[in-house]
Amino acid sequence: MQTLTMKFGGTSVGSPQAIAQAAELVRQATEEHERVLVVCSAMSGVTDKLIEGAQTASEGDTVRYRVLAYELRLQHRTAIRELLDADVERIAIHDEIEALIDEFETLCYGISVLREASPKAMDKVMSLGERMSVPIVSARLRQLGVPSSTVSASRVIVTDNQFGHAGVLFDETERRVRAELLPLLEQGIVPVVTGFIGATEEGVVTTLGRSGSDYTAALLGAYVDSDEVWIWTDVDGVMTTDPRMASDARVIPVLSYGEVGEMAYFGAKVLHSKTVQPLAERGIPVRVKNTFNPTHPGTLITQQEETTPGTVKAVTAIPEVSLVTVAGRGMIGVPGIAARTFAAVAKQGANVLMISQSSSEQSICFVVPQQTGPRVVRAIEKEFEVEFGRQDIERTWEDDQVEIVTVVGAGMLTQSGVAARVFGALGEEGVNILAIAQGASNYTVSMVVHTADTVRAVQAIHRLIISNGAR
Ligand code: ADP
Ligand code: ASP
Ligand code: MG
Repeated sequence: MQTLTMKFGGTSVGSPQAIAQAAELVRQATEEHERVLVVCSAMSGVTDKLIEGAQTASEGDTVRYRVLAYELRLQHRTAIRELLDADVERIAIHDEIEALIDEFETLCYGISVLREASPKAMDKVMSLGERMSVPIVSARLRQLGVPSSTVSASRVIVTDNQFGHAGVLFDETERRVRAELLPLLEQGIVPVVTGFIGATEEGVVTTLGRSGSDYTAALLGAYVDSDEVWIWTDVDGVMTTDPRMASDARVIPVLSYGEVGEMAYFGAKVLHSKTVQPLAERGIPVRVKNTFNPTHPGTLITQQEETTPGTVKAVTAIPEVSLVTVAGRGMIGVPGIAARTFAAVAKQGANVLMISQSSSEQSICFVVPQQTGPRVVRAIEKEFEVEFGRQDIERTWEDDQVEIVTVVGAGMLTQSGVAARVFGALGEEGVNILAIAQGASNYTVSMVVHTADTVRAVQAIHRLIISNGAR
């Protein structure tokens, strides 16, 4: 293989030992591959600390961010001390990271004065974590004899200005990635690039959404024509469910891009939901592997569709959502109710995760992120003021104590009986299903259940998967 892109997540660079291990994996990869590109997350816990510092500062707290800054200094100083030999470079890296933490304190001070953390300011603050981890990893590689340099993704990932979840401008990004990274790779230098971060065309820093480093790796991997992209994380691969929900979760050896895309979209935290897009377009295989158990083959993600259709492969859950219902007997006669409902929801900037409509058209229900629920309900009440007056629509309300549980598997829905077995298993557990929707992709069935039932629902479906009872 000629070109390999490797991404290390937060835990994989979360301690001096982990960074040493990650760097060793990169060194080994350089022996087998002509060109190796590395993308790193912030050290684990760092992004959360940066966010907390800015948020508490926006509430006027000028102490908390300083405590957090102290902790960040300690965490990174320890890594530098344990990983890098005492030489000029160690001092340079130390100074570089200290300056970034000074910047964090300055930004938080500004936020505390303004009493406001705008999305733009938050992105600037959040970008610091990756900018701190990357110099350490790159210096460690140099120490292992691997030529390496750092590259800030804000130079290559060009985005729009939706701060917090910026959209990538693909053509310009591809042009810059090739111009900046290919020359380094051709010279045998391993670029270590900050995950998660981008910048607008004017150079203002943005971020790609939480867990965005996976997406960065996918974009860079695609644009430098990688033969494969390896995502190094803290579990052995993509599993049948979140291992924190079911201790008997198993690694899935092979998955298609479509299946993984759906799993990520419906809550499997192991990959950012946009990760597979750029790679699927080019047919670049992805491997998800465990930094701490590297001999395990992990999960291979390719174009290859499931060979035995009708197999449920995984079950996922999305917490912190609200089920919004619009109901009324007069709705049948009123044209365009659905269109007007979703237009009103879109105006609130709320992402509709799932829709289900009863066949009698007496109600529409849909799921939105929990924090947007109340404003979505108010927007619908306003949109349908006239229809409420005439009682064509009688009620709209939200239930915020719910979660989406999704079963995933290619071809699952064309196989009769699969859904019935899933619903049967939930029935036996006494789990009440509040709404159901079939994914347009034919890979998923999603159900809304009460939050209190989620773990039981996931575990019941998971038992079917591992006993092959869901076939
Ligand atoms: P990283 O920091 O490496 O990006 P993340 O914490 O973002 O790692 O993602 C890995 C975690 O995702 C695992 O530790 C696991 O708890 C969680 N997870 C949730 N669902 C799944 C799943 N279906 N398969 C594997 N891991 C999952
Ligand atoms: N550091 C960022 C986060 O915690 C991005 C990532 O880890 O992928 O969300
Ligand atoms: Mg992640």
